[in-house]
Amino acid sequence: MNRIFNQLLNVKGTVVEDARIVDSPLRPVPVLEIRVRPRKGMLRCSRCGRRRHGYDQGGGVRRWRHQDFGCWRVELVASMPRVDCPECGVVVARVPWAEPGSRFTKDFEAECAWLMGVANQKTVSGFLHVAWRTAGDIARRVADRLRTAMPSPFDGLTVIGVDETSHRKGHTYITVVVDHERHRVVWAHDGYGRDVFDLFFQQLAEEQKASIRVVTGDGARWIDSCVAAHCPNAERVLDGFHIVSWMTGALDQVRKRLWNDARRAGDEEATSACAAPSTPS
Ligand SMILES: [Zn+2]
Repeated sequence: MNRIFNQLLNVKGTVVEDARIVDSPLRPVPVLEIRVRPRKGMLRCSRCGRRRHGYDQGGGVRRWRHQDFGCWRVELVASMPRVDCPECGVVVARVPWAEPGSRFTKDFEAECAWLMGVANQKTVSGFLHVAWRTAGDIARRVADRLRTAMPSPFDGLTVIGVDETSHRKGHTYITVVVDHERHRVVWAHDGYGRDVFDLFFQQLAEEQKASIRVVTGDGARWIDSCVAAHCPNAERVLDGFHIVSWMTGALDQVRKRLWNDARRAGDEEATSACAAPSTPS
């Protein structure tokens, strides 16, 4: 049976020792209590996360709320061994199923954070039986976890593009930097110009700047000077969008001029040839 629960929990480095149903009048709902422990050799310091030798079995047990199983509330129960960390001292060991200081398993927290994104406060609190404030703490932990698990968007940039765009009817500008290879936005900031683009490069480590080979953008001088200062080896390329847009605009002007000339000269055949609808530039 323990093996089945091990598979159901599916948390690496966790051993299920026992499982039982506790149906006591002191508890609002029956609880499926699963006794677990971190696998031997998996003890880590809860502060720095490094693998450490065990110190003792600690004092008492702790409980973590896990995702419900049918009508049963599920709780993991474990004693909290302590580790002897040369850097952090004697501290409680990290457990693979939960964040330090949390009373919920990582799986429960992930479910709660997802539900918060798709349902309102009443549904989240009612369905999961957690206070809204607690759900907020959970969402914060999940976001931090995702952030640290994600590689930096600034790693491995080789071809980037920069452009400014406006919103609120052209009153507010933002500068956007994209990663052309991975087709995604990597950075955005209010305003535009050299000072703003400088802020982007200031966030990059030297090796992250060195990997950039090509910077695309429009013909703005601030892009040139900024790229020359931060990535002297990168090639500055005018992006296709702007070239097509400029070419279309130029062609449109030529067409208008020819049409006006022809109209003045009374050349009906030429005016109808030049009157093709203009492409918006
Ligand atoms: Zn430590």
